[in-house]
Amino acid sequence: MKREKKAALPPPDQRFAPSTVAAEIATRLINELPVKFGGLAAAHILYLTKVGGITVQGERKAGKIEKVTGQKKYLSHNAQNNNEGWDYIVTLDADIWSAATDIIKERIIFHELRHALHDEKEDGSDDWKLVGHDIETFIDETERYGSGREMLDVIQSVSMASKKE
Ligand SMILES: [Zn+2]
Repeated sequence: MKREKKAALPPPDQRFAPSTVAAEIATRLINELPVKFGGLAAAHILYLTKVGGITVQGERKAGKIEKVTGQKKYLSHNAQNNNEGWDYIVTLDADIWSAATDIIKERIIFHELRHALHDEKEDGSDDWKLVGHDIETFIDETERYGSGREMLDVIQSVSMASKKE
């Protein structure tokens, strides 16, 4: 059997396109969930799709979020972000994004926004942070026991108690 030749990818800098759908979903989530995401209302977040796949530590991912600082931020100053540069870039796998249903798209954006956290520096200026996942687990485990919040609470209280000793 002849292997079908994969279509050649465009050069790395031409694999991206802005996603207005992703930006709209994000705006809606930020408005609908002010307690969770209200701090992100002032963030300049760029939403891009990327062809060719996104891999993090060898695993294909639906999306990722990066914080933008320094030179990259300087280079990103434009009218869309009020000439202040992007605070975050959310990159979405173009193939997964186009295959995803509306609710999966929303979940992907929810997930990436959960990694973003607004804090304030001592001088009162914005401090954009990235936070890691609460849990890493198995799908069948969550199907049988739920998210595991109760277990995390136990782990946390034991860990807090041992720090006090
Ligand atoms: Zn994540």
